[in-house]
Amino acid sequence: MPEGHIIHRLAKELNETLGKHPVQASSPQGRFSAGAAAINGRPLVGADAYGKYLFCDFGIDEILHIHLGLIGKLNRKREPIPDPVGEIRLRLQGQSDAWDLSGPTRCDLITPEEMDSIIARLGADPLRRNPRVDLAREGFRNSKKPVGARILDQNVIAGIGNVYRAELLFLCGINPLRPSNSLSDEEFDCLWSHTVELMRIGKRLGRIVTTDPDEIGKPRGRMGDDERLYVYKQDRCRHCGTELVTAKVGGRAITYCPVHQPL
Ligand SMILES: [Zn+2]
Repeated sequence: MPEGHIIHRLAKELNETLGKHPVQASSPQGRFSAGAAAINGRPLVGADAYGKYLFCDFGIDEILHIHLGLIGKLNRKREPIPDPVGEIRLRLQGQSDAWDLSGPTRCDLITPEEMDSIIARLGADPLRRNPRVDLAREGFRNSKKPVGARILDQNVIAGIGNVYRAELLFLCGINPLRPSNSLSDEEFDCLWSHTVELMRIGKRLGRIVTTDPDEIGKPRGRMGDDERLYVYKQDRCRHCGTELVTAKVGGRAITYCPVHQPL
């Protein structure tokens, strides 16, 4: 599932590639024909991301609202733009680049009020300016749910998915099964600061890299898939060699080190 760093990166790239010029919008698959017709020929005023939600303003009364969900993709096509392949819900074609949306959970036009109400429900987004960190802190303090479940709750922190969850809890030495309200202020601060730092890196690189370049012996951009993560889908702890444990927390599997993340 694309996590928040990808959605923020997409918003940035959409602005860079489609901004200011008329966009040709179509629904090759046909399931979003009316919506595409409403924005066709309009310039993209701005794309913006909140957590895992993407909003595109084309200067009409409604806002294009996209949520990629588990399997959705928004793929950039460069010149020469190929014909759409597969089930493309929406194609946005600018002057040189096109973007193909497939498999989204949501792709619809919503009112600015509906957008505001989605944003109002979301927790602190580490990739936005002035995120509501105190709300996120309260979100942990007020809950006995396992930290590993709470950290995926988009109404607490917006944008974290399964990969960042496992990596962040490892880096802060927090067992995913601990009650959220058992976190100390220092532990929450550790979680939050690592979230901001690592999601910024992820946005810049377009993929999740959490390992320390000094430890791996190469820059993040050159790390292979077997080098860029500490615990997600790994067998042994990179730091102590202990066999990692996998548990189901918040409905999804998480891997952790029983030595570095004691209960
Ligand atoms: Zn360990």
